[in-house]
Amino acid sequence: MRKHNQKSWGKTHSSTSLCYTSQEFNEKLRSKTKSGLPIGLGRSYGDSSINSQGIYFEVESSKKIEINEEEMYATCSAEVSIGELERAAIKRGFFPPAVPGTEFVSIGGAIASNIHGKSHHISGSFGASVIELELITSSNETLKLTPNSVNSKYFWATIGGMGLTGIITQAKIKLNKIESSYVVVEEKRAKNLEQLLDLVKDFDKKYLYTVAWIDLSGSYSGRGIVSGGNHAKISDLSLKLRKDPLLIKNPGKLMIPDLFPTWFINSFTVNIFNYCWFKKPLQNGQQHIRKFLHPLDSARKWNNIYGKSGLIQFQFQIPFGEEKFLRKVLNMLQENKVASFLGVLKSFGHGDQSFLGFPQPGWTLAVDFPAKRTDLLPKIKTLMQEIAKINGRVYLTKDSILEVKEFNEMYKKNMEWKRIKSEIDPFKYWRSDQGARLGLC
Ligand SMILES: Cc1cc2nc3c(=O)[nH]c(=O)nc-3n(C[C@H](O)[C@H](O)[C@H](O)COP(=O)(O)OP(=O)(O)OC[C@H]3O[C@@H](n4cnc5c(N)ncnc54)[C@H](O)[C@@H]3O)c2cc1C
Repeated sequence: MRKHNQKSWGKTHSSTSLCYTSQEFNEKLRSKTKSGLPIGLGRSYGDSSINSQGIYFEVESSKKIEINEEEMYATCSAEVSIGELERAAIKRGFFPPAVPGTEFVSIGGAIASNIHGKSHHISGSFGASVIELELITSSNETLKLTPNSVNSKYFWATIGGMGLTGIITQAKIKLNKIESSYVVVEEKRAKNLEQLLDLVKDFDKKYLYTVAWIDLSGSYSGRGIVSGGNHAKISDLSLKLRKDPLLIKNPGKLMIPDLFPTWFINSFTVNIFNYCWFKKPLQNGQQHIRKFLHPLDSARKWNNIYGKSGLIQFQFQIPFGEEKFLRKVLNMLQENKVASFLGVLKSFGHGDQSFLGFPQPGWTLAVDFPAKRTDLLPKIKTLMQEIAKINGRVYLTKDSILEVKEFNEMYKKNMEWKRIKSEIDPFKYWRSDQGARLGLC
């Protein structure tokens, strides 16, 4: 047990409490404490990993990663990071089907948020690659849950369940075979939103990985750059790269210090950055998979550039056919002079059986803005009401402002989830500030 200050990635929420390891959890500790919340690497932006009225649990660090080459899966302890899994898998010629934009996410956090990656249109969310998971419940039972068995409802309630069903301690993750640790990349510029969406659709047909950077500044035309990529085969590689086709690259050590003033990110600086980024030379050809999938990891703690007051990320999803809503968001940002340098647009493929999972077929857009822009909150809330009306959703792992009414409209299976939670957590022990705000615990 240790004293721990848990902080969200957006730096907008924090709480100091005791943090125990998963092995220390027992019924005595449960009955002595008000509530508990499992935590991973703190990459969720809002209040989903904050429990201001209880204690925390982290998975005992064993860094277990065992790869079954024949059956193509890895067994990992839940504190292992996505990057650690990737590197262990690459060594043996494998790669996980779905990984997020940063490698500093734990397996437990990836399952609890049912994260998606650039491959969602083909591979689905992280939950689709989980073969089995182990969960410590509030009754201190360790359950082995699988997607298609008698206990599958607990499995699907835990996938995307935001840590509110118990502590995930281990999981078996499917792996895909790869020939190299490189990706053959194509990038194209789009002049406006309509072109950008068309290019993404086009790239989705050709590439396993697709993502678009959208310029949320200047004239807010929706211009941007679309990147697509497929795993490179040995025959795609230059002679030099063929010498070590499964080369492993470790994350960079550059650390952004916590010295930036809160005004550093403003429409002037973002306009300049976005102008230069839009004009940057396009990356076409072979690229190491780490650089392609986790570009932001070249600078650790980049959230510090927003200064002490931090940032908010608003990520939502809307169904195909509702593209005009994206224009509405661009207009709102323009009218309020919100320039964002990390606008990310992607299309989603099929959803899954999870009760609180975020992705469903359509578009997703993520917008970052300084948290000190509190004047924007009512406008974002209005957009959230519209998102709910058009059957869209706000991503829980990025959220700190969604209200119960809209949440209920967006996540229609939440009542079923709550029934399952009451079965698997009869002591109502697992709690987060977000869960309390949205009536989930
Ligand atoms: C730079 C950056 C890029 C990102 N890119 C993407 C992306 O491309 N796609 C995407 O989907 N997400 C993305 N995210 C969000 C991130 O993947 C999720 O927030 C993820 O859940 C964080 O995992 P974590 O280990 O940091 O967990 P934490 O932030 O510590 O916790 C997140 C949630 O998981 C629960 N949890 C954590 N560990 C466990 C466990 N062992 N058992 C049960 N519950 C647990 C917590 O209770 C909490 O509800 C990004 C985040 C950042 C900072």
